[in-house]
Amino acid sequence: MKQEFIFIGPPGSGKGTQTKMLAKDFNLPHIDTGSLLRATIASGSDEGKLAASFMDNGQLVPIELVSKIIKNRLIQDDCAKGFILDGYPRSIEQAEALDTILSEIDKDTDVKPTVFYFEVDQELLIDRLVNRRSCSKCGSIFNLKTMSLEYKTICKKCGGELIRRDDDTEEVAKKRFETYFRQTAPLIEMYEKRGWLKKLDASLGIEEIYKNLVGAIK
Ligand code: AMP
Repeated sequence: MKQEFIFIGPPGSGKGTQTKMLAKDFNLPHIDTGSLLRATIASGSDEGKLAASFMDNGQLVPIELVSKIIKNRLIQDDCAKGFILDGYPRSIEQAEALDTILSEIDKDTDVKPTVFYFEVDQELLIDRLVNRRSCSKCGSIFNLKTMSLEYKTICKKCGGELIRRDDDTEEVAKKRFETYFRQTAPLIEMYEKRGWLKKLDASLGIEEIYKNLVGAIK
């Protein structure tokens, strides 16, 4: 049975960390629009330049570009068994575009995605974001506050260099929250009405959240 998951939650709510764990254990592709967009920027294309002009301001990248990127990714062979969408959709408009894409891809099945909503207090999130570091090599995510001194600049999993994302400053983080509450939060009600939504307490520790996540699937 195909398994489709959508993770929704404010910036820094831990979606990325939980998606990585679930993707590994369930052998599903992790589709993260933020990373796909950062790869488009790194390619130096005009589309990348357009994406950067929105991302640098904490705004949503135009739907045409995001829909194109996500559709190209979802039609890949590895998505035939399912996928985890991390950070997409982020607006009612994108959710409607996803409905269309999925109705084309899942023509012969009646698969319904499960939507996990990562619920957490905003104060805790700003703090998590400005202290977030990720490995430039393996993508693992760490928090400066909880790391031991020897690992503040290198990844303890692979030895790669730890970097801070350009948009993890307090100023851009605040704008990303405004965008989230204005455009993404309305999705929660929409998916709840469809009966697709499951809520997770994302203020808990990583292992506990994961236990609840897997428990809600089985
Ligand atoms: P993230 O890595 O998920 O925190 O996303 C970083 C930035 O990429 C966001 O602040 C947006 O500017 C952009 N972005 C990521 N996903 C989307 C999306 N689904 N739609 C539009 N913009 C997005």
